[in-house]
Amino acid sequence: MIDDEESNGSNPSDSEMDCNDVYDNASVTDKSSFSSKASLKLPTGISISSKSQCCVCRIQMVPPTITIKKEDRSNIFIRRNIFIPKGSRCCKIHTSNGYLLREDFFKLTAYKDDYRIFNLNYIVNTMQKLRKMVNSNKNVDFDDPLSLSDIEYKNLTGFTRTQHDHVLSYIPAGALKTSINRSPHCVITCLLMKLRLGVSNSVLASMLGIDNKRKVTDIIHSTSAALVKYFVPHYLGLAHINRE
Ligand SMILES: [Zn+2]
Repeated sequence: MIDDEESNGSNPSDSEMDCNDVYDNASVTDKSSFSSKASLKLPTGISISSKSQCCVCRIQMVPPTITIKKEDRSNIFIRRNIFIPKGSRCCKIHTSNGYLLREDFFKLTAYKDDYRIFNLNYIVNTMQKLRKMVNSNKNVDFDDPLSLSDIEYKNLTGFTRTQHDHVLSYIPAGALKTSINRSPHCVITCLLMKLRLGVSNSVLASMLGIDNKRKVTDIIHSTSAALVKYFVPHYLGLAHINRE
């Protein structure tokens, strides 16, 4: 049973479940009658799951390695119907900031097709994520590591995603004008796109799904000040030169 977890569909008791019956029951039953055992059996691809074998390139891993994040596991299930068991690991080179790089996200393939039993909480959560993705009003979403390729990232900001993460790693989150809908990634991007493209603040607001151009002006000023304070000193002047 998968809450966020999995069970193997080849389990004899699982194989007796009638997928259509479960779905029909779920569709006509109100929430209060869901039992903790209610579940759905779905066909899905399964990735390699091993502590020693990379689930992306399938080689025997050598450290450093990374555990695939829950967000990536969820994203890959929604977008590609591949189930990555919890605890699966990959080589660090497939990631940036702990998340799978876009190219590696699409490089990962299922090693077998099977059935998995998902409990209804998992299905409901997955549908909520899907709804959020569909209803997102951002035309260019830099928070979604899958929405842009590295080349698109560079065309729009002048930086690759990895370089972007590197800049962000120097800046405390509290130093940026973020909000529930505006991540550190989004505000840095806003400044970089202004510098790279030279478009008006109104155009930037439309592209990034920010309410209005005054907010864009605020973001550009505060982000620029944070970069000057926390990032620039590491690469300018005598302080950044070591004695070697
Ligand atoms: Zn690998």
